[in-house]
Amino acid sequence: MKRLVFAGAGHAHLYSLARLERFVRAGVSVTVVSPRAFWYSGMGPGLLSGQYEAEDASVDVGAMTESAGGRFLEDRVASIDADRRVVSTEGGERVAYDALSLNVGSEVAVPPGGEGSGRVIPVKPVSLLLDLRHRILRCEPRRSLRILVAGGGAAGCEAAANALALCRRRGRKASVRLVTGEDRLLPGMPESAGRRMADWCRGNGIAVETGRRVSGFDGEDALFGDGRREAADFVLLATGVHPPPLMRRSALATDEEGALRVDDRLQSVSHPGVFGGGDCIRFESMPLSRAGVYAVRQAPVLFDNLLASLLGGVLRVFRPQEKYLLILNLGDGTGLITRGKFVASGRAAFRLKDLLDRRFLRTVRGARPR
Ligand SMILES: Cc1cc2nc3c(=O)[nH]c(=O)nc-3n(C[C@H](O)[C@H](O)[C@H](O)COP(=O)(O)OP(=O)(O)OC[C@H]3O[C@@H](n4cnc5c(N)ncnc54)[C@H](O)[C@@H]3O)c2cc1C
Repeated sequence: MKRLVFAGAGHAHLYSLARLERFVRAGVSVTVVSPRAFWYSGMGPGLLSGQYEAEDASVDVGAMTESAGGRFLEDRVASIDADRRVVSTEGGERVAYDALSLNVGSEVAVPPGGEGSGRVIPVKPVSLLLDLRHRILRCEPRRSLRILVAGGGAAGCEAAANALALCRRRGRKASVRLVTGEDRLLPGMPESAGRRMADWCRGNGIAVETGRRVSGFDGEDALFGDGRREAADFVLLATGVHPPPLMRRSALATDEEGALRVDDRLQSVSHPGVFGGGDCIRFESMPLSRAGVYAVRQAPVLFDNLLASLLGGVLRVFRPQEKYLLILNLGDGTGLITRGKFVASGRAAFRLKDLLDRRFLRTVRGARPR
């Protein structure tokens, strides 16, 4: 019997997990090692503002696995012995594989002093944004909250906008500040998107400061690279993501950040039995930004290639799209939409995002094996 292990159940594995019966029917023994819930990142900011609840934005991947006849380990992979083809979990299980698929996502680096501090909240995993909503609502209602957001990319802008939206909707006083080490907001997007976002912040009372980086924490103060400090009740960290150290600690070929190096077939360049998708890989042919859209597009290719590698067949090539649609949720019922050089904002943008996000999760929940 061939053995397949899925490590992590993120955007790049959902497609396979929803079609797990296909492997099981073919006589493959399937093990999924993952936290029980998958959280859809596109709805993360809306979890903070209260537009979505946990049941809107999450999927029980444990139930999905078990109902298809797979073995679900609610656990995390602690190490990979790529030469012996065995993964070990934090809970002490050892699981041997013929094929291993890695989709363990990415993490936000927490500057010194922030780890373990209840005030400092990385934007990943996005379930932390739901926890933050509950914590904000538990604060003394008459107190004005100081919310600092570090990072001016898409996630930072959405976090700031949705923190503000929550406070407004629930009548909480709050000052929201957004600081970025870059010289403008949304640096990976067209300049007009950055300007629109900055105008929106200004119009809604979010103070934006460019060219400032949070370098650490001391008690309730955030420390900046220029020596200044600033007190905050909550600091949302959206300063960029990097792969978890899991792959770097194994014999698998990784890049300088520790991402699994894969070829066009999403197959490890050093160990052919290992595949990967999403934020934790380095696609060798071209650099890909760490966006869920790539993980979602890689998912059917991963599914086909895992089947082919276990049962025989030709591996498919993943061809990344050049442009993709990105819609920022601004928490007030509007969105900022970009695709290539196209930029627009308004209510229609959020309605479209909401429609696409809900449709995506409906498809995942209702998928039938082929
Ligand atoms: C607030 C926010 C909003 C975003 N919005 C968008 C958007 O609108 N559009 C877009 O394209 N991108 C968006 N992104 C980026 C997007 O979140 C990531 O690119 C996407 O999550 C990558 O998916 P993934 O499958 O690689 O990882 P994930 O979906 O993060 O899944 C990885 C999974 O692996 C699990 N895991 C980690 N380590 C282990 C381990 N050792 N063992 C087992 N399991 C493990 C994690 O718990 C997680 O469940 C957003 C990001 C943030 C933070």
